[in-house]
This record gives sequence, C-alpha cells and structure tokens, in this order.
Amino acid sequence: MTQAAEPSQERLKQELDHLLQRLSRTRLRKGDPPDQALLRPARKPVYLLLRDHERAERLAQQLEFFGLSAQPLFDAGAFMASVAEQPPAAIVMDVDFDGPGGGVPLAARVQQGQEQAVPLLFFSHHETDTPTRLAAVRAGGQAFLTGTLEASSLLEKLEMITSTAPHDPLRVLIIDDSRTQALHTERVLANAGMITRSLTDPIRTMAELAEFQPDLIILDLYMPGCSGPELAKVIRHNDRYVSVPIIYLSAEDDLDKQLDAMSEGGDDFLTKPIRSRHLITTVRNRAARARHLKARMVRDSLTGLYNHTHILQLLEDCSFRARRERQPLSFAMLDIDHFKKINDHHGHPMGDRVIKSLALFLKQRLRKSDFIGRYGGEEFAIVMPNTALDAAHKVLDEIRRRFAEILYPAQPSDLQCTFSAGVVQMDEELDALTMASAADEALYRAKHAGRNCVVRVEP
Ligand code: GH3
Ligand code: MG
Ligand code: MG
Repeated sequence: MTQAAEPSQERLKQELDHLLQRLSRTRLRKGDPPDQALLRPARKPVYLLLRDHERAERLAQQLEFFGLSAQPLFDAGAFMASVAEQPPAAIVMDVDFDGPGGGVPLAARVQQGQEQAVPLLFFSHHETDTPTRLAAVRAGGQAFLTGTLEASSLLEKLEMITSTAPHDPLRVLIIDDSRTQALHTERVLANAGMITRSLTDPIRTMAELAEFQPDLIILDLYMPGCSGPELAKVIRHNDRYVSVPIIYLSAEDDLDKQLDAMSEGGDDFLTKPIRSRHLITTVRNRAARARHLKARMVRDSLTGLYNHTHILQLLEDCSFRARRERQPLSFAMLDIDHFKKINDHHGHPMGDRVIKSLALFLKQRLRKSDFIGRYGGEEFAIVMPNTALDAAHKVLDEIRRRFAEILYPAQPSDLQCTFSAGVVQMDEELDALTMASAADEALYRAKHAGRNCVVRVEP
C-alpha cells in the first residue's frame, strides 16, 4: 500500500510546487494602478517559432514564469491555425524555421493576412548576411536577434516592440544670447514634438544640463562672456556630457571658422537662416541616435540594468530632486547569499543565470519609476523615488520572500537561492554617497544576522 502511495505523493508535491510557482507569479504590487502592470496575465500569447524545438519549449516556460504568455509552435500549419484562431501579441520567428531561410516568407505571409501589423521579431542562430536581414526588414521585422536566444534579451526586445506607450519626447537645450533667436528655435522644435529649454546666460549651463538632461545642445557661436567653442569645451570636460551632441547654429558663413568651431567638441554646424525642416531633421536624427547610444553606455550587458556608475549618478539626481520637492527617497543594496557556492557547485553559467533572473525579477516587481542597477558581480542597487522607508522595506521583503521560492532546475537537485538587503531613506544629512555607504552597512548587518533578510537603517 505504501508503495502505491509514494508516486502519488510525489505527484502531489509536484503539483504543489507548480501551484506555488503560479502563486509567485502575481506580479502586481499592492496599490499599483492596474495600467502599471507591465505584462498583464490575460495578455495575448507570443508565438515562438524556433528550429530548435526544445529551446522554444524552455524559453516559453521561462517567459511564462516572468508573466508573459508564450506558445511554442512547431510547424507552419499549426502556426497558421493558431494565428487564425487567436492573433498574437507578437511573433518570434527563426529565419530558418520551416527550412533554411523559410521563416521570413512564412512570417510575411501571415503578416499580410492581418488587419493590423503584428509585432514581429526575427531570430537567427548564426550571424546573417545582408540579404537575409534585408528580407527580414521587408517582411516587417522590427527587431533581429542573433546568437543564443536568452529569455532576458528576448523579453527586453519584446517589451520594446510591443510597447504602445508613446516614446519620451526628445529634449533639446538651446544656448543663445539672443532671446529672439532662442525663442524662434524653440518654437520650431517644439512644433515638431520636442521638449525645449533655452538659456541666454551661458554661465548657467552646467546647472541647466544637470537639471534638464538634454539629448542634444544647440549652441550659438558668438556670445558675450564666453564663446560657443569655449562653452563646448567646458561641457566636454564633464564625463557625463561627452556624448551629448552639440550643434552650432550661427550666421557665421566662413567655412574655416565653422570648421574651427567644430573641432572644439561640436558635432555639426548649421548656418542661419535655416529651413525649419532642415533644422528639425538634423536635430531629431542626432538626438535620437545619441539617446540610443547612451542607453547602451549606461547599461550592464549581462542584465540590461544600469551599471555601477550610472546608478550612483541616478541616486544623486534623485536625491537632488527629492530634496527640492520635499519627497521621500529610499535606496537599497542587495547581494545574493552564498553565491560563490552556486558557482562552485553548478558552474559559472548557472551563476550568470541566477544573476539574470534576479535582474528580471526586480524589473517586474518594482515600480516603473524605480531605478535598478547592477552594482557589482552579484550585487544590485535600487533607487526608489517618492518612497518612504516603510514602503521600501515592505516591497523588498516581499521580493525577497518570492525570490527564495524560485526553483532553478539543476543536477543533482534543484537549486534555490536567497538574497540579503540593506535599505535606507534619505534625510537632510545624507548625501548620495553617504546614503550608499549606509545601505551597504545595513546589507553587511543583514549578512551577519544570518542572510535572507532585509535590514533597514532607522533615521
Ligand atoms: P555572501 O552570502 O556573504 O554574499 O557570500 P557570497 O559567496 O555570495 O559572496 P562573495 O562576495 O564571497 O562571492 C561572490 C562571488 O560572485 C565571487 C565571484 O566569483 C562571483 N561573481 C562575481 N561576478 C559574477 C558574474 O558575473 N557571474 C558569476 N557567475 N559569478 C560572479
Ligand atoms: Mg553574495
Ligand atoms: Mg558580493
């Protein structure tokens, strides 16, 4: 009798595990308005069409775990039938699905049958040639991933191409001693949907840059007090602004003078009078590309989170703003417990997977207004604007409990891991750096208190 009971107990345990994992998938934070749920549970599925079926299954499971409904499909017929039955939120298509190069025309065919274009992402295991990429673009592909398809990078791209949120307007700072000229430029760019600000006194440039965070600067050549090229040098001396494009806008038509100005930290020279369309196109292209590059510069490549330098910068910006607006601000540091053992027993790739999954977990469970960074190897930092200590502690502790429930499939037995955290709230005495070291100290205390806990620094 006991022999018959054992397998069913095993099944019961499996089912319980399964239910627990589903439970841990409820991602909404209490009090978050429903539209803040990044990926709502009842969303349309993402169809996954990969040549490697096993990988597709595994990816679907992982995406599922992070709240995205994904369905692997294994042949063209099933794909057509599924699309007819339920139009997907997005399609992920291997270019070599259905035979070499077969994925592209298949996706194009399905796309043609849709009233509204379905977000389409192509994937190729190998780096591809231009004709394949060209075909993918013509078939309506919005993104192209190569290499090993990872859940984290796929999720990020999917979020990007399925996001209906309007993009952040580009921000342009105009520095010109003539108020009339500055206002005119502002009007032209604002009409094209950009956010503008102008400065007639160049001496205030650095404060304005920190406050406004422009994507691009338009600079006059001749101003009393300091020249455009001098100001460009001042701006470039600050590491934070080396990549912000600077465009001169001036009536100077001597090419030598224009070139001299350009070699002092400028990126382009536009001569007045200028057609609105010329100005708008130049500014928009440069600003958009600069923003794209900056997004790559400030992020950590393994997790897509902000890197060490940038998260500290964000902490500084946020504490400055919080002070001015008299709003609370919390900061937390997290560190995975006994991570060395995970590497030692399961290998470095497994360690990387745990780091990536914690990154995803944090992204999904924190507010969109929170900033998450990878502080070091298995250390994370979180800046939480408009959040007081109590609320910050509660959220982190909830995340800690849920994270500890995740089971990573591994040999000889599944793996579970935990993290410790320290959290601190800004007050009058604490600047950004002191806040960071206070959080670090609290983290240290959490480790000494036995790990798998969140320690708060009482004001
Ligand atoms: P504690 O609970 O005290 O934090 O113990 P720990 O083992 O997590 O801490 P320790 O700082 O001694 O070890 C962290 C290890 O993380 C050491 C390093 O080899 C590993 N590590 C750092 N960066 C990475 C990474 O990017 N990937 C992987 N897989 N391991 C990393
Ligand atoms: Mg650790
Ligand atoms: Mg560590």
